[in-house]
Amino acid sequence: MLYGKWRPQGFEEVVGQEHVVSTLRNALISDQVAHAYLFSGPRGTGKTTTARILARAINCANLKEGDPCNQCPTCTAIRQGAALDLIEMDAASNRGIDDIRELRERIAFAPSDLTKKVYLLDEVHMLTDGAWNALLKTLEEPPPHAYFILATTDLHKVPPTVVSRCQRFDFHRVMLDAMIGRLGFICEQEGFAINGGSLGVIARQARGGLRDAITLLEQVTSRFGPNPTEGDVLAALGLLQDHRSIQLAEAIMGKDLPGALDLVRDVADSGVDLAKFTRAVVDTLRDELARSAQEGGDVRGLVLAISELARADFRMDPANPVPLEVACATAILGETAAPAVTRPAATGAPAGQPGPRAQRPARRPSGGSDRSEDSAASTEQKFLRELYNRCSMVDITKAAFLNGSCEVLSIEDDVIRLGFYFSFHKDKIDRDCRPLVEEQAAALLGRPVRLEVELVERRPQNRKSASKGGHLAEAARAMGATPVGKDGE
Ligand SMILES: [Zn+2]
Repeated sequence: MLYGKWRPQGFEEVVGQEHVVSTLRNALISDQVAHAYLFSGPRGTGKTTTARILARAINCANLKEGDPCNQCPTCTAIRQGAALDLIEMDAASNRGIDDIRELRERIAFAPSDLTKKVYLLDEVHMLTDGAWNALLKTLEEPPPHAYFILATTDLHKVPPTVVSRCQRFDFHRVMLDAMIGRLGFICEQEGFAINGGSLGVIARQARGGLRDAITLLEQVTSRFGPNPTEGDVLAALGLLQDHRSIQLAEAIMGKDLPGALDLVRDVADSGVDLAKFTRAVVDTLRDELARSAQEGGDVRGLVLAISELARADFRMDPANPVPLEVACATAILGETAAPAVTRPAATGAPAGQPGPRAQRPARRPSGGSDRSEDSAASTEQKFLRELYNRCSMVDITKAAFLNGSCEVLSIEDDVIRLGFYFSFHKDKIDRDCRPLVEEQAAALLGRPVRLEVELVERRPQNRKSASKGGHLAEAARAMGATPVGKDGE
């Protein structure tokens, strides 16, 4: 097994958990090792590996800057799984009070083949209440020769009384670059020729778990040999073999709307699962966001794009590309300057000259309702929200063009006027959605109404709030709340 073969043997090889291993090393060097540790974190991030290195280091008489020597009889016995005094217990299968009682009885005896007894309890959150109580007494007064390392993927299921008795370390999801680096190292050692893009696909699929990434690498190479193509990798991982998701992400980042819309149409025509495809685009954009955020670049455009794409909803009509088109258009146009189309008649400004945004209240259309009053504005916002809700019950993809794309300019006796920020949305509503909107607006107002649409400049406060952190949190939630940064739990 590739994972077992390349399991880190020293602290320096543990990937992406520098905050843990440097503290442990210092404790070992200064002879201040605690008697109970609690390792928490997602699966496959190195908890058991680190625990085994620590178990060797606690016993090794030949420490090298905190690392076990891995050569002395003690290290060798532990590496071969032959040491009686390293007791590994899987709490998932030994979870009862009797198991812990047995542990307590044996712990009193002096170690037999090592100098220290080390208990490694994996999946410790599975223990029963009785077992916890029994364990707690042992943790309170461990014999001098006994050390505990508890590991869990579910920290919140570990009783606080136990947590407080342990020195706790939180293992993080491994960052993409670190994971790709380790995979590259293993490939080099094994003589595999796999390009960086393919390693990225593997690493991304593992979502921060290095063990899973190495297992995937093994699956790919055992099926396709040591020189798999990128297509082989995608096929082995059961992924959509579609480079267009990366192309679309690039078109969005490059603000190429025609290119993006062509790609979306092409993808839809080829019968690809649009929800999955969109998810792949979002993954690519998230990687880019993580990279840009680290380098300190301007990430507002990326955040907006992720937010818009994560919101695209295909549940009502899975083959309809409109939600993805709308998301792309909003992502691309939302970051460029607002279109230079306003209402010259109301402002006195020549057509094509937007004028300062601060003047906006003066450019309010005459005869319309007074949008400068908060109560009036909120009535119109409520109307628009209700109109969107009603339309979305009839046709969610058409209704999507009303969502955040426009504002109500006026509601008069038989005319409602909507101002759109971008011609893309305006034209779609005008051309394809007019009957739907007029019908639902009439039902809402209780009288027949006609729809008028025009382009307006988006109000500054709207644009500002669109690029604030709220969108990022919203995007993260929409994607299943997997933060990009450290501490994934
Ligand atoms: Zn040693």
